[in-house]
Amino acid sequence: MNKNVSQTKFPVYIARSRQTTEVNKTGSWRVMCPEYEEKTSPCSAACPAGEDIALIQMFTTRGLFKKAWEKILMENPFPAVCGRVCYHPCETVCNRKQFDEPVAINSIERFLSDTADKNGYRPSFEKPETKKEKIAIIGAGPAGLSAAWFLSRMGYPCDIFEEKSEPGGILRWGIPPYRLPAGVLQGEIDLIAAAGAEIHCNRPVSALFLTDIKKKYNAVFMGCGHGQSESLNIEGENLAVDGLNFLSELRQGKTRRLHGRVVVLGGGNTAVDVARSVLRLGGTPLVIYRRRREDMPAFPQDVNMALEEGIELLELYGPAKIEKNNKDYLLTLQKMHVAGLEDGKRAAIEPDVGKTKKISAQMVVKAIGAGPAETWHKPPVAGKDILHLSNAILSFDNAGFPVIFGGDLASEIESVVHAVASGKHAAIALDILFNKGRNKITKKMEICSVGNGSSFSFETYLNRNHRPRRPEIVSYEQINTDYFSKAQRITVQRLPKEEAINSFAETALNIPENFAVQEAARCFNCGICTQCDNCFIFCPDVAVIHDKSKQGRHINYDYCKGCGLCVAECPRSAMTLKGEHQ
Ligand code: SF4
Ligand code: SF4
Repeated sequence: MNKNVSQTKFPVYIARSRQTTEVNKTGSWRVMCPEYEEKTSPCSAACPAGEDIALIQMFTTRGLFKKAWEKILMENPFPAVCGRVCYHPCETVCNRKQFDEPVAINSIERFLSDTADKNGYRPSFEKPETKKEKIAIIGAGPAGLSAAWFLSRMGYPCDIFEEKSEPGGILRWGIPPYRLPAGVLQGEIDLIAAAGAEIHCNRPVSALFLTDIKKKYNAVFMGCGHGQSESLNIEGENLAVDGLNFLSELRQGKTRRLHGRVVVLGGGNTAVDVARSVLRLGGTPLVIYRRRREDMPAFPQDVNMALEEGIELLELYGPAKIEKNNKDYLLTLQKMHVAGLEDGKRAAIEPDVGKTKKISAQMVVKAIGAGPAETWHKPPVAGKDILHLSNAILSFDNAGFPVIFGGDLASEIESVVHAVASGKHAAIALDILFNKGRNKITKKMEICSVGNGSSFSFETYLNRNHRPRRPEIVSYEQINTDYFSKAQRITVQRLPKEEAINSFAETALNIPENFAVQEAARCFNCGICTQCDNCFIFCPDVAVIHDKSKQGRHINYDYCKGCGLCVAECPRSAMTLKGEHQ
C-alpha cells in the first residue's frame, strides 16, 4: 500500500544562523527618528508658580510624599496656603478634563503640605554661599515673603519690613480662618524665615525711610499690596464699615456677634469673605453687586460656596445713598441694566433711570476693591528705565538704584499664587541683574520659562542641567488614552453646613492618604517619562536600551528602523517622532 504524503517522515530543518545578526544595522533603513523628548503639561504652564505638576503626581502615586512636597516647595513656598486658597487655574486646563474630570491638583497639594507638617518634614535644599548684595523687602505679604524665599535660596541676605505686628499680609489679615487657619500660615512663614530672611514687624516704611534704605541695600522689593479701599463716592459712605478692616478685626478677635441683615457691597473675594464671616457671626448677609453673578471678580468656587451656605445675592443693583435710620441704616439702591460687554467679557452696565429701591440693614460693609495706599507704592508706568516682567516691574531711580514692584502692585490678577510668581520672578531678575547686567534679564529668564513663558521654573534657573520646561505643551490629542480607564474624581469632604456656618473652623477637610494616591494616579503625567517601559516592550528591533546609571532609556539608532511604535505606544507623549534629519 502506498503511504500518503502526510505519513511520510521528512527531516525537520530549523534555519539557524551561525553568526550574530548584529552586523545588519537596520538603522540605515530609517526615514523617521523617534526621540525621548519630555514636554510641558498644560497644568504646569497654567500654574503661575510653574509647579512641575505631572512629576508631583507621579511621586504622590508612588507614596513619595516628601519628594512631591519638596518639588512644590522648589517653585512655591506656600503649598499649604495655595492648597487651600488658590483658585487653581491648573485644573481648568487639565487634559484629564476631556476624558472624564480634571485631576484634583489643589487637594493633592494640600494633602502633601499637611502630610509634611504632620511628619515634620524639612526641605533638604543645598545651602547656598552668602552673596554680598543685600535686599530690603517692603511688606511681609505673600509677594514679599516669596521674594525672600527665592532670594534666600540663592544666598542673598534679606530684611523684610512689615508695618503690622505679625507677618502674612492679606493671608493673615484678609482671609478668614475657615478658609486659612492661622497656624497653617505660620508654619509656612517659619519655613521661609528658616531659609534666612529676617522679618522685622511693627516697622512701617515711609518715603523718607525708603530713601535711607537705599544707602544700606543693593535693591528694594516693593510688596506692600493694596492697602487703601476704593471709594463708593456716594452720600453717607462714611456710615459703611470698610471690608478689609472688618476682616482684619475678625482675625484679631475684635469683632462682636451680629444680628439682623448686614449688607455687603461688592463682588470680589473680600466681599464674599466678609459675607461668609458675617454669617458665622450670627448676621444675615446680603451681597449687593452692581453687575451680574457671572461678572463677579470673586473666584467662582468661592461664590458657589457662599451661595451653598445660604448667602443671598442681589445682582444689578448699585448703592446710591446710605442714611442713618434710628439704630439701623437705610440704603437707597439704583437698579442697573446690562448695556453690552466690556472688553468682550463682563457686563457693561447703565442705571435704569427712575428705578430705585430702599432696604434697611443693621450694618453696611463696603468691599468694592482696593488700590495702593501711598503714591510711592505705585510702580512707574512708563520710561526707558522700566522692565515689565511677568508679575513684576523692575525700575531704576535717578541714581540707577533698582526698585522692583511685585504682588498686587504689579500683577493683573490679584491672587496668592500670582504673588508667589511675582516674588520668584523678581528674585531671578535681581540675580541676573547683579551677575550679568540689566540687558541680559529678559534673555536669561526665557531659559527657565515654563510652557508659553508667563511662569518660570526656579529649579531650571538654578540648575541648567535640569530638564527644560519650555518645549511644547502636551494636548489631549497627544495622550494615548487606551492606557487609561475612566475614574471618578475624589470629592473633598466639608464640614456639615450647620456646623460650618456656626463656627470659624476650617470648612474643607483634608483628603485621606489612600484618596490622595488614588487621585494622583488619575493623572496622565502629560509629557513626562514615568518609566512604564512601553517603548521597550513594543520596539520590534530591541533598539530601546535601559541606561541603568541614569535610570533612563535611550535608542540604539544602529538598529532602530524608525517605525514609530514606541512613540505611538507612549501613553503620555514623552517621545516624539521626527524626520530623520530634523
Ligand atoms: S498653586 Fe494653584 S495653580 Fe499652582 S498647582 Fe497649586 S492649585 Fe494649581
Ligand atoms: S492629566 Fe496630570 S499632567 Fe496632565 S494636565 Fe492633568 S494634572 Fe496635569
